Amino acid sequence: MAKAFASTKYVYLFGNKKADGDGSMKALLGGKGANLAEMTRIGLPVPPGFTITTEVCAYFYANKRAYPKELRAQMEAGVTNMERILGKKFGDLENPLLVAVRSGARDSMPGMMDTILNLGLNDQTVIALAKRSNNERFAWDCYRRFIQMYGDVVLGVQKRAGEDHEPFETVIESLKAELFPGDKQVEDTRIDANGLKELVSRFKKLVKSRTGREFPENPWDQLKGAIGAVFGSWMNDRAIVYRRKYNIPQEWGTAVNVQAMVFGNTGERSGSGVAFTRDPASGERVFYGEFLMNAQGEDVVAGVRTPEPVRELARKQRASYAELERIRKVLESHFKDMQDFEFTIEEGKVFMLQTRNGKRTGLAAVRIACEMVKEKLIPWPTAITRVPAEQLDQVLAPVFDRAAIRSAKLIAKGLPAGPGAASGKIYFNAERAVEGANSGEKVLLVRIETSPEDLRGMIAAEGILTARGGVSSHAALVARQMGKVCVCGASALHIDYHTKRLDVGEQTFREGDYLSVDGTAGEVYAGQVKTAASEIIQVLLEKSLKPEQSQTYRNYAQLMQWCSQAEGDRIDAMREMILAEKTDDRRRALAKLLPYQREDFAGMFEELSGLPATIRFLDPPLHEFLPHDHAAQTQLAEKLGVSVEKIAKRVHDLHEFNPMLGHRGCRLGIVYPEISEMQARAVFEAAAEVQKQGIKVRPEIMIPLVGFPKELQLQLEVVHRVAKEVAAERKAKFNYLVGTMIEIPRAALIADEIAREAEFFSFGTNDLTQTTLGMSRDDSGSFLGAYAELEIVKQNPFASIDQTGVGKLMEMACALGRKTRPGIKLGICGEHGGEPSSVKFCHRLGLSYVSCSPFRVPIARLAAAQAALEEVKAARGGRK
Ligand code: PEP
Ligand code: MG
Repeated sequence: MAKAFASTKYVYLFGNKKADGDGSMKALLGGKGANLAEMTRIGLPVPPGFTITTEVCAYFYANKRAYPKELRAQMEAGVTNMERILGKKFGDLENPLLVAVRSGARDSMPGMMDTILNLGLNDQTVIALAKRSNNERFAWDCYRRFIQMYGDVVLGVQKRAGEDHEPFETVIESLKAELFPGDKQVEDTRIDANGLKELVSRFKKLVKSRTGREFPENPWDQLKGAIGAVFGSWMNDRAIVYRRKYNIPQEWGTAVNVQAMVFGNTGERSGSGVAFTRDPASGERVFYGEFLMNAQGEDVVAGVRTPEPVRELARKQRASYAELERIRKVLESHFKDMQDFEFTIEEGKVFMLQTRNGKRTGLAAVRIACEMVKEKLIPWPTAITRVPAEQLDQVLAPVFDRAAIRSAKLIAKGLPAGPGAASGKIYFNAERAVEGANSGEKVLLVRIETSPEDLRGMIAAEGILTARGGVSSHAALVARQMGKVCVCGASALHIDYHTKRLDVGEQTFREGDYLSVDGTAGEVYAGQVKTAASEIIQVLLEKSLKPEQSQTYRNYAQLMQWCSQAEGDRIDAMREMILAEKTDDRRRALAKLLPYQREDFAGMFEELSGLPATIRFLDPPLHEFLPHDHAAQTQLAEKLGVSVEKIAKRVHDLHEFNPMLGHRGCRLGIVYPEISEMQARAVFEAAAEVQKQGIKVRPEIMIPLVGFPKELQLQLEVVHRVAKEVAAERKAKFNYLVGTMIEIPRAALIADEIAREAEFFSFGTNDLTQTTLGMSRDDSGSFLGAYAELEIVKQNPFASIDQTGVGKLMEMACALGRKTRPGIKLGICGEHGGEPSSVKFCHRLGLSYVSCSPFRVPIARLAAAQAALEEVKAARGGRK
């Protein structure tokens, strides 16, 4: 194995049960590279290879597409390692080593980037391969595939404007027409060795005529070109669209995997496939997937030939099927999540080429999470994290109305690839589908097969229907992830792109006609079919279905119960902390809260990916968390194992006459520093965790209700100390700020002193209004109506900033704060931040942000923009 030099190690080897990397290193090695290393480590049959890190991608883009100088030698060591393990040699004329070069970003981006297979072939090595394998057809099949992929991806021999087909495809089609005159549906596997030789020669001519150069013969030149093309594909159009949709940062970059080829195309004892450890559409625990015999992996995912379901393999090659079943179990028990994996069978021996957590529908996510808990693979809190919140609405989405579907006309059946029901006007092309959707239509994208170029159309469509391709085809994979309804491989459909017609049996449909697809059953219906509420809504609201009739409902209910339990556990730990009389007890309860807080912060940091995250330390009066009636106190007493009297007494002790002016805000952290300590620890541990994934984190810790500089000093000491501790423990560096809220008049009055400690101010205008006016936030409703009528106040000061009073304090605090710390960041976090006239006032004060509830963000943005324009207008007026 190569030696690890901190930042100059650019190449990570794997092979023969040993690997430099492991599954946790996705940021550096990409998802594919990290898991190839992990699978190698756990003894799965993975062909050897190496991964070039994402750091090289960053270097490549920062240095005009050049590479670090150390890379070449490290790659040579990588190739030597493969040669040693396999007893083959790269470019050898006896026993040549061929490699696959594949992209691999941190998060999988199915089909978005480029792959090159069979690299290392040239006019000499192809002859060696033919001799060695005793299979001339196979060797030439590899060679023609290589020239096509390399020509397309690296040399840019692609469709030009005005051409209907990819140029390599056109060459294949015309050769087939010569070899099999009159036969329209010729599979590639029917072309024999001589035909393939002819194909190679025509491909090379095509490359020469398009690029003006000969196809590169030197394997090292080929490798260099391929690696550059894979890094280059990170910035191709479809990868950019995909990243935008899924908020994948551009800085992540991709890794490149160079791996020894294993061959699924040596004949009928070989094949390639893609499988899932469970059904990714329904979530059912069945071995699910598909394969093609005598094929390389690209044939399966490209959707050109419709593959066979994996259970067929049990009939065709029992031993390979049994091995795959074994691998399926190993994968699930090791990765503890549903896996989506690629395999190749070479002459009856199974090899693993990739595994990753499988994309799944919302329906499947809920079912898999629930069942994995039952199978004791994961604990229930993990199950909660396995269902992306935004996917939950998929299980609540409509299905076809039972009565309507009975009378609808079924026109074709395909594979159920993305569940749900969708009706819409059909379009045969992504651009026109997008136009239709933009003009307000519900559209279905209907294609013979989809390719990554169709991504925009898929995003715009309600549903996707294809005539070819299996459940692991690009269309199916992307549809499931986006929660789109999808039926694929409906082979009865005859689609003609030129005439924009779809013929099925006796019927014809044209662009703009309606079809309906049921992605749960894999059915296609004529016309628009009425939809009905999801099973869950039918159980809960309509009561038209009983819980026991719906597995979906039962899983959903289980998940929701765990959610309440999680919330319950958290509030119980909070209550335990509040009820604690001794510091030790309080620390114990705080330790239970720490993981919840850390997880929340980590989620937030990931979501914000580098944007500043403001975190306010504990603020509300503690009694707000405690149960006040006897029944609830009894319940809590049982849970915590203490007497109800003890709880009642503590609640009584904590009672305050005026809690809003009581023991709250930073006063909690002053009296119980361990509370602030736990919060700081949660912030920094989460930051360290997220930074390790390569995401930037910028926490801005905000201390509430400060009135005295010393209060802030004491809290700062805690925060900085914990930051140092965590930095040392986790070998991390943090980029954070600590600031304060200005929400007590005293703080506004001495803002110059406060600004010595505080790196930013955020006006808590709710409290600032309450304390400046001496009017309770909670009790002023009883007289403010009369005040407004009598015109004592123009507007409710809790809704719109009292500009002459509270506003004056704010103005003063801004000026004093800037005096001490000229560039100090100023903002507002009271409710007023979403009210138009207050937003405009804040603009005039020169605050750099307002914050408000998500629902009021558009209002606040509009008001801020208007204030900015008014300012420009006033300035122009002044100049005139
Ligand atoms: C405020 O006082 O304006 C504020 C933002 O804090 P809270 O309303 O939570 O006291
Ligand atoms: Mg406040």
